Amino acid sequence: MNPISIHTIASAVEGDLKGNAGNGDRLISYLSIDSRTLVDPEGSLFFALVGERHNGHQFIHELYQQGVRSFVVSELPDDFEALKEASFIFVKDSLKALQQLAASVRDEFQFPLVAITGSNGKTMVKEWLFDLLQHQLRIVRSPKSYNSQVGVPLSVWNMAGAMDLGIVEAGISKPGEMVRLATIIRPEIGLFTNIGDAHQENFRSMAEKVEEKLRLFEGARLLVCRRDQDLVYQLALRKFEHSSTRIVSWSTTGLAADLAFALQRDGQSTKIRLKWEEAVYEVEIPFSDEASIENACHCLALICANNWINHSVLELFAGLQSVAMRLELKQGVSGCTLINDFYNSDINSLEIALQFLNQQTSSTGQSKTVILSDIKQSGFAPHRLYTEVNRLLQLNKVHRMIGVGKAIGAHRAVFQLPAQFFETTHDFIQDFQTGKFRNEVILIKGAREFRFEEVASVLQKKYHQTQLEINLNILVDNLNAFKAIVKPETKIMVMVKAFSYGSGTTEIARALEFQKVDYLAVAVADEGIELRQAGIESPIVVMNPEEHSFDAMIEYRLEPNIYSRTVFHQFNLAARSAAVVQYPVHIKLETGMNRLGFSDVDELQQVAEQIQAEEILRVQSVFSHLAGTDEPLHDAFTWKQYERFVKLAEVVTSRQKHKVIRHLLNSAGIERFPEFQLDMVRLGIGLYGVAVTKLGVRPITHWTSTISQVKMIGKTETVGYGRMGRANEQKKIAVVPVGYADGYDRRFSNGGANMWVNGACVPVIGNVCMDMTMIDVTDVDVKEGDLVELMGEHIHLKELAERANTIPYEILTGISQRVKRVYSQE
Ligand SMILES: *Cc1c(COP(=O)(O)O)cnc(C)c1O
Repeated sequence: MNPISIHTIASAVEGDLKGNAGNGDRLISYLSIDSRTLVDPEGSLFFALVGERHNGHQFIHELYQQGVRSFVVSELPDDFEALKEASFIFVKDSLKALQQLAASVRDEFQFPLVAITGSNGKTMVKEWLFDLLQHQLRIVRSPKSYNSQVGVPLSVWNMAGAMDLGIVEAGISKPGEMVRLATIIRPEIGLFTNIGDAHQENFRSMAEKVEEKLRLFEGARLLVCRRDQDLVYQLALRKFEHSSTRIVSWSTTGLAADLAFALQRDGQSTKIRLKWEEAVYEVEIPFSDEASIENACHCLALICANNWINHSVLELFAGLQSVAMRLELKQGVSGCTLINDFYNSDINSLEIALQFLNQQTSSTGQSKTVILSDIKQSGFAPHRLYTEVNRLLQLNKVHRMIGVGKAIGAHRAVFQLPAQFFETTHDFIQDFQTGKFRNEVILIKGAREFRFEEVASVLQKKYHQTQLEINLNILVDNLNAFKAIVKPETKIMVMVKAFSYGSGTTEIARALEFQKVDYLAVAVADEGIELRQAGIESPIVVMNPEEHSFDAMIEYRLEPNIYSRTVFHQFNLAARSAAVVQYPVHIKLETGMNRLGFSDVDELQQVAEQIQAEEILRVQSVFSHLAGTDEPLHDAFTWKQYERFVKLAEVVTSRQKHKVIRHLLNSAGIERFPEFQLDMVRLGIGLYGVAVTKLGVRPITHWTSTISQVKMIGKTETVGYGRMGRANEQKKIAVVPVGYADGYDRRFSNGGANMWVNGACVPVIGNVCMDMTMIDVTDVDVKEGDLVELMGEHIHLKELAERANTIPYEILTGISQRVKRVYSQE
């Protein structure tokens, strides 16, 4: 945040300053790696990173247009001298330069760093340590899960100020990556959470992966790890045996360790007892699951090992929350969209939240409102802090702000935008009137003690409490998992038909557009029109175009699937009368599915020739669909379809002057037949989290509801219509407000499916009704209002589908529109 001159940066990264070197004194406040999330062009330094699929150098001219004047590049643009005001720092490797810069910023830190790595729990441990220690130490931590080769240097750049401690998390996926992060972080204190299967495909053995991760802690004075993770412990012991790194290990299983924790689970909470330096302590945490207990033990061990233990810290354990550390997008009153972020309020996370706000409004042009509480723990004097907040709000073109809290109100004079201030959250709610908010995007961001949940709840549209949460981060992870197995030059079309397989159209399409996928595809024209009206600009293919919608399709730039001579003639006519030229179309070939598509070579030849001759249409692509990619049983048939396709496609491509894109694979095909990728692939169900191989994708949807009522029934009683649920003994029943009208399949009746509530898997009892379903919670501690998972982490989509004797596609697309979709993103 303290600006640094271009000159200083060039020497820190050992680069050559080219171009308009006279501006070497220009001060840089922001680092940017993404042309889409720029705030202060003048004060930003853009790193042109080169990845497998992206090359940041492509965006230099566009960024120059937007006012960016400073670049780190590994290739100079040919016309760099024409970009008169630009300075270029020329380096061999721009990612390495970003890391070198962060390492040199790190040299200036006057406070120690804690580094956390491991397969799971990194972010949670980091956030909990912050919660537990912020009352005794001034702490700065890396935002959200910025833990990668790019994320770590960006977080370190942002860590400044007079602090007592920094906490950084580091994640790797390949050998060789940790050394690069270690050179930047150089932690004084290390914490190794655990080791699991993640990214194992890139390592020869688990031991190799552990050793790679341990390199982070070379030179640290302290390392906390779990004795019960034997491999981690043994390798750490060996590595640091003759060094000055002290290992503090802990165990819950009675192994000889520096700290022995005794656990006592009690319903949903757990007591952890320990002895440290002759004193006995006990904490209670409001969780009983393994992962949370492990995370809490790590925090406890680290606190003991640093002598930060005292009574107030111990008490704070009881208040730990497993808060979702991500931004939540919800529909609000009067056409508003809410971005909820009431987990933390530091200046770094404000920057990230403002970027997300921009992303949401970039295509809709809605106005932006920010509701912001006092910012705690900034390390800066309040006047400077709120001046900086004002600058960020200005840069991000926020239209108005509402400040809540004494400190922000006391500095109201620094804000140069329409603003209103309240001393407390209660005052805001007292004053609240729906009419003051209309068709805008509202970022609600507050420190936890301000309980901004209450602000969100008055602004939120009220729905029936069954909801489908869609995690956009997992969507991006899944997309990347597929990108990793698709050749870099192969394009990707994503199927967003049927309401994006039930996950909602515009939000998903917007996220995909942001990820720069090449094509989107919908089933019918109306779906495409909805996307265009929401501001989606990517090319969109309509798979089942109908004649009555051809004019509208042309108006909205939707590209048809031309699957027969009839469709060709009709669309050609519509295009001719709309006076368009070279209108892009996609030709579908029949190769064995026996659904839509040309099979007659003569017809195909005529159509291809006519298109080429008239130039009203343009064959953008030629494709076919495989019938059995998910089952090895059909592999010989799949090969035959491929061969037929290549031959038939030639009939079309040989009759066009330009290169025509050829595509064949759906998700299972991408996984199982990499040799058939051709020029493009069509990703569907895999993106939403269902894979046929060990690709490592995760479901993006979490379907939940809350218990409406709990009741005891006697042993002769029955449950529901047709009296199908029989008690046989005294039972406890809970009513969940979800039924077949929501898409909760009636085949789930009478034990046909389970739900997950308070850590237990419980069966459906009786028949599923239209709007309600009863579950047997006899052995579970439940009450009204408790959260129930219908589908997600514990109740797997694939299993539900099997139980109902169908496929995941039907379950996903069957979730009805009345189930509220909620989107979340880190
Ligand atoms: C739906 C669809 C896909 C995607 O299939 P998945 O099995 O979901 O990957 C691909 N191509 C066409 C033509 C489709 O209709």
